[in-house]
Amino acid sequence: MQRTPETTAAETGRRALLARRTSGRGDEDIVLTRARGSRVWDTAGREYIDCTSQAWSNNLGANDPRVVEAAIAQLREITHVRPVYSSPPLFELSAKLVEVAPAGLDRVSYSLHGSTAVETAMKVALCNRPDAQNILVLHDAYHGRSLATMAASWPHPRNRFGPVQPRFTRVPAPNPYRPRIGLDPESDSALCLDLLRDTIRKGVDGGVAAVMMEPVQGNGGHIEFPRTWYSGVRQVCDEENVLLILDEIQTGFGRLGSMWGAEHYNVAPDILVFGKAVGGGFPLAGVLVAEHIEDFAPGDDQLTFGEFPVSLAAGLATIRAIEDDDLCAQSRERGDHATRRLLEMQRRHPLIGDVRCPGLMVAIELVKDRTTKKPSPVAAREIARRSTERGVLFGESRYAGIGDIIKIKPPLDIEYQLLDRALDVLDDVIGELEEKNVC
Ligand code: PMP
Repeated sequence: MQRTPETTAAETGRRALLARRTSGRGDEDIVLTRARGSRVWDTAGREYIDCTSQAWSNNLGANDPRVVEAAIAQLREITHVRPVYSSPPLFELSAKLVEVAPAGLDRVSYSLHGSTAVETAMKVALCNRPDAQNILVLHDAYHGRSLATMAASWPHPRNRFGPVQPRFTRVPAPNPYRPRIGLDPESDSALCLDLLRDTIRKGVDGGVAAVMMEPVQGNGGHIEFPRTWYSGVRQVCDEENVLLILDEIQTGFGRLGSMWGAEHYNVAPDILVFGKAVGGGFPLAGVLVAEHIEDFAPGDDQLTFGEFPVSLAAGLATIRAIEDDDLCAQSRERGDHATRRLLEMQRRHPLIGDVRCPGLMVAIELVKDRTTKKPSPVAAREIARRSTERGVLFGESRYAGIGDIIKIKPPLDIEYQLLDRALDVLDDVIGELEEKNVC
């Protein structure tokens, strides 16, 4: 490769990064320069179909002109307002959010990252249950990578921050693909509800302020729980005077084919955390809280850039576009299409142990053997690598270092032609691995 001043700067910059990249074609990382809808391009001009929506954030296709124009218009007016003042998009977006929120959630607070929004949710819970100090989270949950939320997520093999992290207690949750021995998914759910109740009553010192969970566990293996789990958790929380926090950072804004997981599973949270897709590609997250939750006192939650007007304007344009385009219906239709095709592939490919949805929250679990359900992280990694080489980006789930999941979560308005091309590549690559017995 000929050295130009730019390539030298890029190499120096790459070496200067504290965090190594983890996705790419082998050793070569991918430098993205452009995105439109469901496609992205790299420095070499290679095109990819983006079935990751860039960390499931572009529910509305990338660089939607309505969002970009709203952000530019705001940029021209004022970019930064410290949180003791207000800005027009702060009021406009807040009105819109409480309009589209699940029933009963009537106030909102903002952050720029999902992890800090989760921390806000925890602060709300602790302020509203002053006698309780504990928060329960589920096995295989993922709630972020900030100092506090890292401990609320599945045990990261390299989490060295325990001494300065809050103490969460992780409770078992039902897994319909792997119910506990001798149980069907519904009785597994009932058992886990009993364990949840026991843990609240007997498992912690200092009382439980909240149970926090994702409606569908994204990072932790794409687990949708049995229906009875959702109503059961709500009931246990009510009976034990514990708040329910739903982390909808992945499931909100149409990913499941409904605006919210709360609506999809008919469960009413006291606190809902949103993030990712709401910003239409701009950093934006926050919490919505129920009527009975007390307001924060001044200074309880204040981040210099927490109410970044450009992100707020982009968020408002994104929600309007989600409504105008009926993105929830698009998610359902494309999700059904992808799921049908994957179920058909599963009949031909023994590597596919399970196909998961709903909506366009689609994933497959790769197993060495359908009977033992032994995970095949090698197959998952190889599928992601080979598909990338062929111009399709799929997500992997490396939760707790296991990672036998391939996620197919493109923008909710992906063109059918692109979706089918991505699934064709997946089909071919799995066929190749099976032929060579790579698992
Ligand atoms: N909660 C969930 C359910 C998530 O999926 C994520 C991000 N993957 C987070 C919290 C943390 O969000 P962020 O990376 O924006 O801090």
